[in-house]
Amino acid sequence: MNPLPVVGRFAPSPTGDLHFGSLVSAVGSYLEARSAGGLWLLRIEDIDPPREIKGSSDRIIHDLNRLGLVPDGPILYQSSRRDAYQRAVERLLEKGLAYPCGCSRKDLSKSGKYPGNCRNGIPPGKKPRSIRFRVEANDCAFEDRLQGPVSDNPADISGDFIIKRADGLFAYQLAVVVDDDFQRVTQVVRGADLLDSTSRQICLQRALGLDSPSYMHLPVVISADGKKLSKRTQSDPVKHHDPATAVEQALLFLGQCPPSGLSLSSLWNWALDHWNINLIPGTRTILPDNTLSV
Ligand SMILES: [Zn+2]
Repeated sequence: MNPLPVVGRFAPSPTGDLHFGSLVSAVGSYLEARSAGGLWLLRIEDIDPPREIKGSSDRIIHDLNRLGLVPDGPILYQSSRRDAYQRAVERLLEKGLAYPCGCSRKDLSKSGKYPGNCRNGIPPGKKPRSIRFRVEANDCAFEDRLQGPVSDNPADISGDFIIKRADGLFAYQLAVVVDDDFQRVTQVVRGADLLDSTSRQICLQRALGLDSPSYMHLPVVISADGKKLSKRTQSDPVKHHDPATAVEQALLFLGQCPPSGLSLSSLWNWALDHWNINLIPGTRTILPDNTLSV
């Protein structure tokens, strides 16, 4: 049997413009796939209309193109995939691996971990609202290619988590798993702010009988108070600099050392030839002081 072709992906949510953090994920996922001769796909995660900002998916696509990040193949929009998500929910319900939950927000603890109120049936007087995935104490540990072994247990983090919301929208965790399989993604390269989601996604993959891709979580920039620096970044090379400078900043953040002053196309050629994941800082976060000032 031939080995699976390498397929990477970048999957932004249209909840704002492309910023430095998302550029780092785009550049890392692109180089990891393309330097191995693989494909790099783009997926717009537009499954949560209340959170979306009008026009941002078009602006993200425009900015990626301007930066030389052109996907292989058509862009997948999650808003077009609701039937596939519904089928996955039904499969899990049929297997007894998911169940309806009648809890409203006030029934739940502030810790964020579901106490299991509806695990054995919805209590009298409640109506089904959402669908939850039944988390068993099974082992969803994995080896992150950059962060090392990760042994998060969803039973401790989230408990049984929502896969279809009370408002009828599908949860991020479910949509990602269904679409990574649909797009035949073999490697996920994304920000370490999503590391906590990975064990839940692996549990879902196993429950649905899907293969898991490999995972590599890149460091994210945080502010001194520990918050993720994203839209409120004080200096954003995506907006304020020419494309070559913005890509160069992302490469430097990822530990790669391109010669300065290259044109955009020369910079990409250099990056594809020299991409070395051993140079990426193996931490979850990096303070902005450690990055080049922009
Ligand atoms: Zn419940």
